[in-house]
Amino acid sequence: MSHSVVLVLIPASTPTALVEDTVRDALAPFDENLEVPEHDEECYCVGRIAKDAGEAFACAQVGTWNALRASFAAKFPLPAGKHDFDLGETENDARRQAWAAHISDHQAIARQHAEAHPLAGKPDPECTDCSGGGTNKTTSNPRAKWDWFTIGGRWTGMLSGRDPADDPDNWEPCELCLGTPGKRNDTLGRGARAKDPNYGCNGCRPEKPGLKMKWRLKQDPGDVAPVSSFVSNGHVEKKDQIPFAILERDGTWSERGDMHWFGVVVGEKPRDEWKDAAEAILARNLDALAVVVDVHI
Ligand SMILES: [Zn+2]
Ligand SMILES: [Zn+2]
Repeated sequence: MSHSVVLVLIPASTPTALVEDTVRDALAPFDENLEVPEHDEECYCVGRIAKDAGEAFACAQVGTWNALRASFAAKFPLPAGKHDFDLGETENDARRQAWAAHISDHQAIARQHAEAHPLAGKPDPECTDCSGGGTNKTTSNPRAKWDWFTIGGRWTGMLSGRDPADDPDNWEPCELCLGTPGKRNDTLGRGARAKDPNYGCNGCRPEKPGLKMKWRLKQDPGDVAPVSSFVSNGHVEKKDQIPFAILERDGTWSERGDMHWFGVVVGEKPRDEWKDAAEAILARNLDALAVVVDVHI
């Protein structure tokens, strides 16, 4: 269950009043609740026994995940008092790469062992779902990408560069400290302040005492914009204009996680590779309107 941002590309001739309907139509084939004709779906148990055996073998050979995490922390200690989430994007990428290198032996051994296992790519003969057949009948949508969406949402302002926090309409009173802005004055707040006189309120931030961001942000008019307004010479103006996924007018869905344009699917790709791919897609759609869409699945 997570949110991500999709740029839905629609014809430039779309009247403003029809943008939402056009986006809805474009997204319809990717609706998780769309029922499709019954088809076979591979059971989750396929290959699982071999994979589990590979994992167990690798853990025995080069150490468990706990041991790997501990040796990584010893080899690449974080600066004192810092957490992973305190790191900037560059540091974070470097750390992620170091982690990938740190676990590469474990993964290679696990994979090799799994591939050589007699049940590699085969179902669990005792699976209660597929009875060992390896497939189940389903009418669920294999292309499902969303169960809810809204234009803008938590990515409103992504194309315009306007920060929704700068719009007073996006703030509302913090109900935890009503009447005493920034200082929670209920039993819990008074109790916390008895221990720490600096305790304020956990519902709002000291910069904006008594106010919190609304759950539903106002839509920025720039959430619907010509692709040519933020892409020039094949590049986006700002790198945070690269979405998680792009839906083109011909119904092609491309996303950071699967790289069908290279003919290989290998999970999450390094940011730069997806940036290049996304920019190439946008550059061939300069005549379209881009709509910022917050999707949930
Ligand atoms: Zn099964
Ligand atoms: Zn508050």
